[in-house]
Amino acid sequence: MNVPRIIIAIDGYSSTGKSSFAKLIAEELGFIHLDSGALYRAVTLYALRHDMIDYRNRVDENALLEALMSLSITLKHTKKGTETYLEGENVDVPIRQMDVSNAVSPVSAIPFVRNFVDKLLHKYAKEGGVVMDGRDIGTNVFPSAQLKIFMTADTRVRAERRFAEMKNSGKKLSVEEVMKNLEERDYIDSHRAVSPLKKADDAIVLDNTDMTLSQQMEWLRKILEERWG
Ligand code: C5P
Repeated sequence: MNVPRIIIAIDGYSSTGKSSFAKLIAEELGFIHLDSGALYRAVTLYALRHDMIDYRNRVDENALLEALMSLSITLKHTKKGTETYLEGENVDVPIRQMDVSNAVSPVSAIPFVRNFVDKLLHKYAKEGGVVMDGRDIGTNVFPSAQLKIFMTADTRVRAERRFAEMKNSGKKLSVEEVMKNLEERDYIDSHRAVSPLKKADDAIVLDNTDMTLSQQMEWLRKILEERWG
């Protein structure tokens, strides 16, 4: 199979396994993986650390806008995958923690934050050969992406998968708390005014409720074969 250096857009609901799938596809095709959620999470971590988000998740937009003018968020492609750096610090662990998960959707609904992240994504994708995952990649960031996948799965199954991941990292949370966070994020992400989460008309739906990662890869290989085989 000789897949050209296209852009593959993977969108979908929270914790449907978009990043794991995107990472695996990138490895198989020799592409780079860009996780747009990690960039929104890095902005949120910065805002939390600088007291720009209050206990009701209201964001001090003036302060954040000013900070973004000079904020450094960079990505590094390594053999293990793409790493995220905030002001030079590797933040792959703290951006996945619950305080960030709880505040990221309100931050990512702010139009100037979306602009900031979109610019970064375009910069890192300019050579092509990219698998990018998020919520609005196929609809807004790269509407001309040559392959678009929209991922979904049963909410409880998603919560249980996320719970298992978090348990391994030593976090004390219940499945219900994890599920509540997923549902809240899905709601805010789908209902915001700018670039809401929605399936692009030309995206292929992948419901992976009962699928393993290798079954998902099999599913994708067939599509790649059909189109570029
Ligand atoms: O993909 P992940 O769950 O890490 O994304 C975290 C959050 O970042 C999402 O819940 C959403 O609020 C935001 N996001 C977004 N647009 C994207 C990617 C993520 O709004 N393209």
